[in-house]
Amino acid sequence: MNKIEQVTEWIRGSERVVFFGGAGTSTESGIPDFRSAAGLYRSAQGSGAPPEVMLSHTYFMEHPESFFEFYKKHMIYRDARPNAAHEALAALERAGKLAAVVTQNIDGLHQAAGSRVVYELHGSVHRNRCMACGAAYTLDEMLALPGVAPRCRACGGVVKPDVVLYEEPLDQDVWAGAVEAIRAADVLLVGGTSLTVYPAAGLVGELRGGKLVLMNREETSFDRRADAVVRGSVGEALRRVAEAIVADF
Ligand code: NAD
Repeated sequence: MNKIEQVTEWIRGSERVVFFGGAGTSTESGIPDFRSAAGLYRSAQGSGAPPEVMLSHTYFMEHPESFFEFYKKHMIYRDARPNAAHEALAALERAGKLAAVVTQNIDGLHQAAGSRVVYELHGSVHRNRCMACGAAYTLDEMLALPGVAPRCRACGGVVKPDVVLYEEPLDQDVWAGAVEAIRAADVLLVGGTSLTVYPAAGLVGELRGGKLVLMNREETSFDRRADAVVRGSVGEALRRVAEAIVADF
């Protein structure tokens, strides 16, 4: 039995599969991750400071215009569409196999594919809010606002994306939901994440006795803890799993 067949067998016998993913889940939709060879850490060299600085709360507050120049150029992909990974996870949820998606991504592609239970640990580019009056804006509305650092139409305050910047805490309700889902999982599929960003990466340690499966192109520091490591495309791995389990996928 190969690894995909083994994982498929575990999922067949499971009632609460949870997927925990990161930027690698969206690279096949054309959104670069941070740490791969084609990732933002290399392509954004020369943009000024490294991404952890440009995307930090301090930088946002002190240099909102440079922050938004970087953010709009490197973090927003309006034309990106769900890929096989997102589609397979949505199909597994519809089939009653997948209990939740926990994601570090901010691109909204799981919901675009039809997933309903999605814990967005780092927020979403699709929600934006005026820091002064609280007025809400969609992504397109925010992008249409005047100013490089967008200004609220109602009060002129700066409109901030609902994404968790470096130095900012995670939303406690989202975190609690993710922890609860992973504790109850009988199979945890982890895909497309280097598992280097904390506290998110610590969620793997919340698994209580369920099988741990890693689907990643590169090695991670959690590989030796896993029950199975599927090396390669997470889109391809999940497509094969969904084809084997969901009759009409
Ligand atoms: P990361 O860039 O640190 O690691 C991505 C991992 O995915 C790497 O190990 C890489 O080998 C692997 N990978 C890339 N493409 C893959 C594919 N098609 N199949 C299998 N594996 C693949 O990403 P991270 O661990 O998510 O941490 C980066 C942080 O940056 C996150 O906190 C996230 O919020 C943010 N981010 C989000 C997006 C997005 O929303 N799409 C994009 C870039 C960064």
